[in-house]
Amino acid sequence: MAVSLQAARDRVHAACRPLPTEVVPVADALGRVLAAPLRARTGLPRFANSAMDGYAVIAGPAGRTLRVIGHSLAGTPSVTPVDETTAIRIATGAALPPGADAVVADERAAVTDGRVELHADAPPGLNVRVAGEDIPAGRPLLDAGTRLGPVELAVAIGTGHGELVCHRRPRVAILGTGDELRTPGSRLGPGQIHDSNTTTLAALATLAGGRVVARDRVADDPAATLKAVAAAIDGADLVVLSGGVSVGPEDHVRDALLELGVRPEFSGVEVRPGRPAWFGTRAGVSVLAVPGNPVAAIVIFILLGRPGLAALAGRRPPAAAEHARLTERVRPAPGRTNIVGANLPAQVDGRLLAAPTGPLSPHATGRLLGLDALALIPAGAAWLEAGTPVEILRISD
Ligand code: AMP
Ligand code: MG
Repeated sequence: MAVSLQAARDRVHAACRPLPTEVVPVADALGRVLAAPLRARTGLPRFANSAMDGYAVIAGPAGRTLRVIGHSLAGTPSVTPVDETTAIRIATGAALPPGADAVVADERAAVTDGRVELHADAPPGLNVRVAGEDIPAGRPLLDAGTRLGPVELAVAIGTGHGELVCHRRPRVAILGTGDELRTPGSRLGPGQIHDSNTTTLAALATLAGGRVVARDRVADDPAATLKAVAAAIDGADLVVLSGGVSVGPEDHVRDALLELGVRPEFSGVEVRPGRPAWFGTRAGVSVLAVPGNPVAAIVIFILLGRPGLAALAGRRPPAAAEHARLTERVRPAPGRTNIVGANLPAQVDGRLLAAPTGPLSPHATGRLLGLDALALIPAGAAWLEAGTPVEILRISD
């Protein structure tokens, strides 16, 4: 029951429901997804303050000489009010003292013997940041489903939030299968290779907002595979298995999954590379098995694992898939979506372009180096001409 790529995406999406919510301190909230809309609790700035180091005064013309009667520093505001004859020395970010409505910058003022001569006109509001001018209190800031980046955190904290209601982070277990696999960097015997997939898949899962809770490797043995897959399912929201998912005599992953009661959603996807991909669920746990060939593993994770994690994490799906226009004609694969590498040169007239780099070989990771994106070439017989818009998935999203 191999399915089209679209059907595979739909099933992954249907299976991966947003995880429950929890309250997260802002310091731990990077990459987390808001489970409720966020409003500004307080305005930003919190209070009227100075944009410059200078003198806080009542607005007035240049040429005045005022008595300096105090300091207002960031964190230590002056409570002394100013009048028409006085000024308060003020630091950037310090609260405006009572009465003051303008700040004359240091470089426009000369101080002698406790008096300051102002060389600039000081219209009302000069160098003053008004309370709430950036964000008024109560303003809606972020929708539920927003992934929190550094800027979102700055805004949340600036408007009074110390904790945020987020979805739980998806727990991801990774299991590589294959007799030939050895620890990265270790000495290899004949026919052995370094296991890159478990590290690569863990990296992709982490960047997609997952928390990798288990990583393991198992030999091509039915009993060992069964045990290792059972252990991976335990305590995970998403299990990613690599290798052993075809139907050869040394491929034990599908049998193990079926024996463990993982209900298959699809077994094979009409896509190149990555056709053997398998996906199923058991009691709220999603299991994605990707082919062992490293490029196929990466492609399938980007096509199916990443959106699955995004959905588990509670992210709002993008309004529309991203498309770019081919700069060159591309040959489709009959009956399958053909995934080709693409670079995204500068936009022309606001339109994104995709420069295809040719078909991807399932084993040749070198050809992925430096690539911007994958381009999805729909199944078909006729070449896709230059200028045709195709869906793209950015590799480093
Ligand atoms: P399989 O899907 O198990 O038939 O493996 C297909 C190819 O991918 C074989 O050449 C494997 O050696 C290779 N392969 C499988 N697992 C990994 C892995 N974890 N890291 C790198 N290559 C792998
Ligand atoms: Mg294998």
